[in-house]
Amino acid sequence: MRSKSLYRFVWVVTAGGAASALWTALHLTWPDWTADGLAVTALLAAGLVVGEWLPTRIWRGDTFRQYTFSGTFTVGLIITGPFWLAAVLQTGALLTDEIRRRSPPLKLAFNLSQYLLAMTCARIVYAALTDQPFGGYSERFTTDQLLPSLLAAAVYFLVNVILVSVVLALANEERLLPSVVGHLRDEISMTTMLLCVAPVVVLSLQFSPITAPLCLLPIVAVRQAARAAAASNVQAMHDSLTGLPNRSLLMLRGRRHADLARDGEQIALLLLDLDHFKEINDTLGHHVGDELLRLVSARLGSVVREGDTVARLGGDEFAVLCPGLTDTAVAQELSRRLIEALATPFDLEQISLHVGASIGIALLPEHADGIEQLVQRADIAMYVAKQDRGVTRIYDPTHDQNTVERLALMEELRAGMDTELVLHYQPKCQASDGVLAGVEVLVRWQHPVRGLIYPDEFLAAAENSGLIVPMTMRILREALQQAGRWRAQGLDVNLAVNMSPRHLADAHLPDQLAAMLESENLTGAVLTVEVTENSIMSDPERAGDVLRRIRELGVAVSIDDFGTGYSSLAYLRDLAATEVKIDKTFVMNASRSERDLAIVKAAADLGHSLGLQVVAEGIEDETTARLMTDSGCDLLQGFLLLPPSPAAELFAWCNRPREWAGRVVELPDSRPRPAHQVADR
Ligand code: C2E
Ligand code: MG
Ligand code: MG
Repeated sequence: MRSKSLYRFVWVVTAGGAASALWTALHLTWPDWTADGLAVTALLAAGLVVGEWLPTRIWRGDTFRQYTFSGTFTVGLIITGPFWLAAVLQTGALLTDEIRRRSPPLKLAFNLSQYLLAMTCARIVYAALTDQPFGGYSERFTTDQLLPSLLAAAVYFLVNVILVSVVLALANEERLLPSVVGHLRDEISMTTMLLCVAPVVVLSLQFSPITAPLCLLPIVAVRQAARAAAASNVQAMHDSLTGLPNRSLLMLRGRRHADLARDGEQIALLLLDLDHFKEINDTLGHHVGDELLRLVSARLGSVVREGDTVARLGGDEFAVLCPGLTDTAVAQELSRRLIEALATPFDLEQISLHVGASIGIALLPEHADGIEQLVQRADIAMYVAKQDRGVTRIYDPTHDQNTVERLALMEELRAGMDTELVLHYQPKCQASDGVLAGVEVLVRWQHPVRGLIYPDEFLAAAENSGLIVPMTMRILREALQQAGRWRAQGLDVNLAVNMSPRHLADAHLPDQLAAMLESENLTGAVLTVEVTENSIMSDPERAGDVLRRIRELGVAVSIDDFGTGYSSLAYLRDLAATEVKIDKTFVMNASRSERDLAIVKAAADLGHSLGLQVVAEGIEDETTARLMTDSGCDLLQGFLLLPPSPAAELFAWCNRPREWAGRVVELPDSRPRPAHQVADR
């Protein structure tokens, strides 16, 4: 269907071109040149040939186009004649250029015919309006020829643009009218300016050929302005690191494709996010990260189809826009090829880097009614894909609501990070005598509308969006400040902060912790980091190294939720841990389930044999507290002692006498002490 109408159109235009050539040949007359007249014709001819041979790349609409500045002289020759000379020169210049570029014969025939047709139509109109013979020549241009010459220029412009935009629309399977209108809009300002200068140039040359350099000035000015505009457009529309189109250009092209799409066609948008890029950037440095992004861009560009746009949206996020799909399986196939292209490791700084990617796909009009919504939907699909890493997900309206809410929630968290996160504190006490041994820091989000939100509701999303990193830093800082304040009040207690898996992959973490401790004037002994088995096992070597350096600061390391993850005993042996916390699911069931109790006992034995302190969390009643003590747990934590509470409540709780296994627990010495004594400790 496509090739049929395309070829039919090309043949019609070619036939028109041939008829024009014939018509021109039939009207061939030799002009009666004077010396001055010949000079003018020669200068116009030279301008046409030079302009045609010195094209420049300029930015038109949303892409580069090859542009020649010969139009002024072509129209000049059309209005003065002899027309055959204009036709011969234009054809000759075009022919040499197309042959040099090895254009296929049909394309060459079309381009020649298109110009011949446009020129012939323009000359016919001019001849009709001025009573000049078609093949004639006039040495003097008069003012009453001004309007006909402008109309001839307009015809030349319109025929050219219409023929080109129609052939491109047919070749790209786009809708005709929007294509024609789009091309007219893109071309009209600069081209009409160049064409309308033609009568002025003719008049000036006829006045004296010496004015030739002056005639060039407006053309040079237009050319320079177009180039400068192109340069600044290119800068505004491209990513400076990779040279790829940026978000603005992607949207522009998306909108154009959407305007031109025919019934039944889809546009696919693939959003691609690299997995673990942040870790690579943090660990190996930004120069490696930048180089990696450049290499990734090149690989992505090498697998897409002609006509697809690869863009970088920022950070490690890329997009591929695929217009004109009649079969959406093409998008999935492309997604597979993109992931495959990244599968070969990247060699950087003598390291072989594996980079996975998650891809979300959305289709227009199937999933969205505009390009903005298409981006949004692809973003949702990518968010879902990221949960499972290294996979492709097509947008599905069923998980939409949940995801949109989550995305909105993360935006709110980003905004409220400094003011709305609150820390609660929960004591860990010695099983033997109930004396306070440490405090766990647990974050909550005091949402202005939803009220207090617990970590289960926002941690996973914060982890996926990367917000967890600034969030943990903020929690650590506040926890350490709290430790300093309690210390000044006489409560000298170790604070345990939960760490996400991302931090264990961050080689900068130990240095950041050291800097924070120093700025609060505290030693590492005041802090414990709680990590889960799984977060260690996702990259045991790197995590092991980070934890060892954290231990060197004097900070304790606790393995949280012990028993629920998958850790190898060998890693447990070599890990720089100081404590295991048996997961509360075993603890809470221990009084009812022999099996859970057996797990608690085995975990406690294992911990002790490795020289670790053993904590039972989730103690809600006396029976469980006794059971855990009898099973060998060293420390207990749970609602029975105190639910996670604001700092002031924890402090008050510490200073309240309470009973433990029939005895009154010894209270911490919380009398205010002089400042110098505080600093000494
Ligand atoms: P976790 O580190 O295992 O924290 C203990 C969780 O058990 C807390 O839930 C605490 O409120 C709850 N808990 C304590 N005693 C009892 C009890 O007797 N019975 C029951 N049923 N539950 C008890 P929370 O505060 O909702 O935190 C859930 C998880 O969220 C934490 O589990 C931790 O993995 C994570 N989390 C909390 N705060 C942070 C944080 O600041 N950073 C990071 N990365 N994760 C955090
Ligand atoms: Mg914990
Ligand atoms: Mg836990």
